[in-house]
Amino acid sequence: MLSGMPSVFIRLAGCNLRCGWCDTKYASWYPESEPWSMEAILEGVELYPTRYVVITGGEPTIHPELAELTQELKARGKHITIETNGTSFMEGVACDLISMSPKLRHSIADAEMFPEEARIQMERRWNIASFKNWIDHHDYQLKFVFTSAADVEEIHELVGLIDRPIPADRIMLMPEGIDTAAIGRRAPEVVEVCRQQGYRYCARLHIDLFGNTRGT
Ligand code: SF4
Repeated sequence: MLSGMPSVFIRLAGCNLRCGWCDTKYASWYPESEPWSMEAILEGVELYPTRYVVITGGEPTIHPELAELTQELKARGKHITIETNGTSFMEGVACDLISMSPKLRHSIADAEMFPEEARIQMERRWNIASFKNWIDHHDYQLKFVFTSAADVEEIHELVGLIDRPIPADRIMLMPEGIDTAAIGRRAPEVVEVCRQQGYRYCARLHIDLFGNTRGT
C-alpha cells in the first residue's frame, strides 16, 4: 500500500476504454496532450525528490514506448507503479506493482446518449488472457470502483474467470464518487463488504486532499 507516499505521476494520454464515469476524460475520451520526448519525461521525473513513480493515464499500455520508459526509470533506481485497466498486456515492462483496475458493468456509459462509447466498453472492458498475464508476470493488486453490493458478484465472476489463486487482500474496493461527500456516503457500505470479503478499503486520498482537479 503506497497511499500517501510522495510520488511523481506520469499521465499518458489516450485510452482504449470509454468508462461512463471516467474522471479523467481529458486523458481518455477526449485526450489533450503535447508530445513529450523520453528525455524530457525522465528529466521531469528527476526534478522531484522521491524514488516513487506512478505511470497512469488514460491507459499507459496503449503506448509502445512504455516498456522503454519503465526500463529507463528502473535504471535510475525508481520504484514504479503502473495503473492500468489491464486489457492490453505488454512484454518488457519493468515495474514493481501493476495496479490493475478491471471495469465492472457499471462502467458502461448510457447506451442511448453514448452508443459508440457503450459499444466499445462492452466489447473491450475484460480481456481475461491479458489479466492473467499481468498477474503471472508482476506483483499486482486488483482495484475496483464500487457502486453497490451487486458488484461483489461480478468480482467473484471475474476472479473465477482469471483462474488464479488471488488472495482477498490483493483486491481493493474504492467508493465511486468525485467529491468527498459522495465518497463518504458510500464508504460505510464499502467498509462492510471489505469486512465480509477480506478485501482492502481503498481511500481516494487525492480527492480528499485536492478535490477532483487536474494535476492531482
Ligand atoms: S480505463 Fe481509466 S482512463 Fe480509460 S476511460 Fe476508464 S476510467 Fe477513464
